Amino acid sequence: MSLKGYDIFYPETGKVNKIKCKVCGENCFVLYNVVGATSSADAMAGIVRSHDCFSCLNNEEDWHKQALDLLLEIERNPSLRLKEIMKDELDELIQNNIK
Ligand SMILES: [Zn+2]
Repeated sequence: MSLKGYDIFYPETGKVNKIKCKVCGENCFVLYNVVGATSSADAMAGIVRSHDCFSCLNNEEDWHKQALDLLLEIERNPSLRLKEIMKDELDELIQNNIK
């Protein structure tokens, strides 16, 4: 599963050359000039626009899903100590899986 703004991005067509995945730091794979909805609100409103689609090629991997969950938990968790622990785990997870 991909999460917009983390491992999938929909910038306006031609605005951005390169986006790194916020989860694992790898360069995202790009599809140029995609026409479609860029959010569920747009989808419901029937709004389609031309955009580029950047998505992380690792985003179907189990470790990447775990990394995304950790990242979200780090952002959400109010405890600085727990954040530190989870950041360490996240770094380790990514280092073990990125070649
Ligand atoms: Zn990624």
